[in-house]
Amino acid sequence: MDCLFCKIAAKQIPAKTAFENDRVIAFHDLFPQAPTHILIIPKAHYTTLNDVPASEAALVGELMTTASQLAKEHGFDEAGYRVVMNCNPDGGQSVYHIHLHLLAGRKLTWPPG
Ligand code: IMP
Repeated sequence: MDCLFCKIAAKQIPAKTAFENDRVIAFHDLFPQAPTHILIIPKAHYTTLNDVPASEAALVGELMTTASQLAKEHGFDEAGYRVVMNCNPDGGQSVYHIHLHLLAGRKLTWPPG
């Protein structure tokens, strides 16, 4: 499968890794939208959130707990941060391998565009 994030997970394409275990890898976004912008992905390929079965709820939860752990490590837990997963064109998804964005380091506006 020709998937950019599968290639990053397999180390075929370089990325600045922030965290990794057997199931999950987190790396810095190449086009950051905040002073800290990290993408947290499962190593297993799921094209969109719609494709994740309920049996993988723990994996999706691990993306969230990895985000909060990274926010703590980078010192953003008190000031705050945002986690977001875009789904399909209207949600703004551009890479079709699910990923959680962790954005931090500036006051983020709401609602998003
Ligand atoms: P999406 O638009 O929610 O699918 O997010 C995809 C993200 O991947 C965007 O924030 C891009 O800046 C980021 N991105 C695209 N290519 C690369 C890459 O090669 N390395 C790291 N991040 C990337």
